[in-house]
Amino acid sequence: MIEFRNVSKTYDNGTKALTDVNIKIDAGEFVFIVGASGAGKSTFLKLIMREEVPTSGTVKILDYNLNEMKKKKIPYFRRHLGIVFQDFRLIPKMTVYDNVAFAMRVIGAREKQIEKRVPYVLSLVGLEGKMKCYPTELSGGEQQRVALARALANNADIIVADEPTGNVDPQMSIEIVELLTRLNEMGTTVLMVTHAHDLVRKFDRRVITLEHGCIVSDGNVVDSAAAPVTNEPPKITDEEKTLASVDELVSQTPEYKTEEFAAKVEEEIQETLAEENTEAEGETDADEGGND
Ligand code: ADP
Repeated sequence: MIEFRNVSKTYDNGTKALTDVNIKIDAGEFVFIVGASGAGKSTFLKLIMREEVPTSGTVKILDYNLNEMKKKKIPYFRRHLGIVFQDFRLIPKMTVYDNVAFAMRVIGAREKQIEKRVPYVLSLVGLEGKMKCYPTELSGGEQQRVALARALANNADIIVADEPTGNVDPQMSIEIVELLTRLNEMGTTVLMVTHAHDLVRKFDRRVITLEHGCIVSDGNVVDSAAAPVTNEPPKITDEEKTLASVDELVSQTPEYKTEEFAAKVEEEIQETLAEENTEAEGETDADEGGND
């Protein structure tokens, strides 16, 4: 389902972010990705989300070869992914219901579908009673659960969570991972980048450890190969989460950040859909012509 073959990524300024990464993640797995700041975790996720392309090697996700993917197919590919960020990225002026509904609207879902699906995904994350609230009326943990519901709204095959517990308290962190575990048990593949070694220890799952752009261990926490990594104290501090790298992440993945952006995404998707429809009509015409 996720396959990296000899993947290296060097940024334009010469920084080697990943070197010769080979990895396979099967459908239905739950994988933690750990490593110190600068180890290459975000780059790994960006390659999966097709925000970056490898300098060499191939990345295959589901049935897509991302190296060969045309730009206009990217929005369709991304529908398979539910993306959850550390800073939630909810739209402040929208209610909980509308934040989730919005994710469905931008891909052209029908209002009837939306009315059925939104309460369902909100009930999965235990927030059915908060549909009319605004994000500011919720705790950090609740906001992250809304972001999770949003990630689920379009039936994502893979949840990509970039430090989803980074801004919530320890008890809520456990609840978020328990929630991800439940979603995983329902069939969604989960990739979670984290610095929270206590969480990694508590939930005995596959752990991929990156160091200087290379995978240095891959196994369950109980495996001796992976154990030394989990014994390390957390290396990240707030200071290390430099504004520069946050700004960069935001500028490259601004989904849901602002209403302006949302409108732009919607416009782009509508354009692409219209293009696809025109192409499909052309094909149908041709087929019909052939049958005559
Ligand atoms: P992590 O998520 O583990 O902190 P990153 O994947 O963000 O690591 O970064 C890996 C390396 O690549 C770091 O040295 C970082 O400074 C560098 N890097 C990340 N993004 C860029 C970029 N857009 N341009 C240049 N260098 C980058």
